[in-house]
Amino acid sequence: LTVLGLETSCDETAAAVVRRAADGRVQVLSSVIASQIAEHAPYGGVVPEIAARAHVESIDAIAAQAIAEAGVTYADLTGVAATAGPGLVGGVMVGLSFGKAVALARGIPMIAVNHLEGHAVSARLAADLPYPFLLLLVSGGHCQLLAVEGIGQARRLGSTIDDAAGEAFDKIAKTLGLPYPGGPALEKLAQGGDPERFPLPRALLGRKDCDFSFSGLKTAAARIAETLTTEDERRDLAASVQTAIARQLAERSDRAMAAYAQAHHGFGLRFVVAGGVAANKAVRARLEETASARGFSFTAPPLAYCTDNAAMIALAGAERLALGEAHPMDAPARPRWPLDEAAALASPTHV
Ligand code: ATP
Ligand code: MG
Ligand code: FE
Repeated sequence: LTVLGLETSCDETAAAVVRRAADGRVQVLSSVIASQIAEHAPYGGVVPEIAARAHVESIDAIAAQAIAEAGVTYADLTGVAATAGPGLVGGVMVGLSFGKAVALARGIPMIAVNHLEGHAVSARLAADLPYPFLLLLVSGGHCQLLAVEGIGQARRLGSTIDDAAGEAFDKIAKTLGLPYPGGPALEKLAQGGDPERFPLPRALLGRKDCDFSFSGLKTAAARIAETLTTEDERRDLAASVQTAIARQLAERSDRAMAAYAQAHHGFGLRFVVAGGVAANKAVRARLEETASARGFSFTAPPLAYCTDNAAMIALAGAERLALGEAHPMDAPARPRWPLDEAAALASPTHV
């Protein structure tokens, strides 16, 4: 299978070509990402109308570039996969419509991909990672622990009751006066800082579930930020925040690992972290430590596949195509689309 992937759910216009052999081996032939950061930066965050317009303007050229860099032509494609949600609906419609047009013009199947399923498979782009695995999905809009049994088979063990981890990074970075997007900027500022200088609240410590909460940390960090006068203090606060977030992610993952290990009788214990926050080195290091202490293998995608990209969308599409799936031309754009749909409908903390 040679699949063109398209990603337009937020502020990246991305296209990629991924080849999946019959034995499941995966090759990323190209992965092109056009970031709109410069267009949104003056507003301190993503402006949906600007995003949708920018996607319209560049999707054609970005897709053409991905095809060219892959060394193939449109005629070589055996399928096309486009993000159909969740995300900003104006942007999603651009990529999804483009995908449908390619499918119609070439007479090939189209897969409407859940963006979160893309993140969920992203570690499989570069590592030999079999199902099942325990997944921590930490991105700008989501913070969840999922038992992933296969493509389309995810069961949620916990999720945030307020902000996502990436959202917490972004909001706290803003109070520190850092530019959008805040996560990478905060990581940079934290370098060499003292992570124990500012004591921050530890949320949900006594709770037996695998949920997350970052709003208390956010409020506390904002209060401290107001009182800071020196550059050293700012650096130490950034380091303290980063450590507090990494610690909570590890603590809740540790709980999930214990439950997962029991359910799987101690066999095939694999822990995976994916999503934009998985790019953070302190987060990766702490999770790796936790996984190893629990007897789990640890896999994180290469940095380029942590944040939004189309290679992960192409792979999710290819895995579904390999199962014989294809979606109709009236497949809708879905601004909200939980990965574990059935479980989410029953869940009181549905994000
Ligand atoms: P979702 O996938 O939930 O729809 P999204 O697509 O906007 O949201 P991603 O692209 O996966 O999210 O990740 C972006 C988020 O990751 C942002 O919140 C960003 O600040 C955060 N992030 C990226 N790099 C880092 C880093 N090095 N350290 C901390 N956070 C980071
Ligand atoms: Mg983004
Ligand atoms: Fe994402």
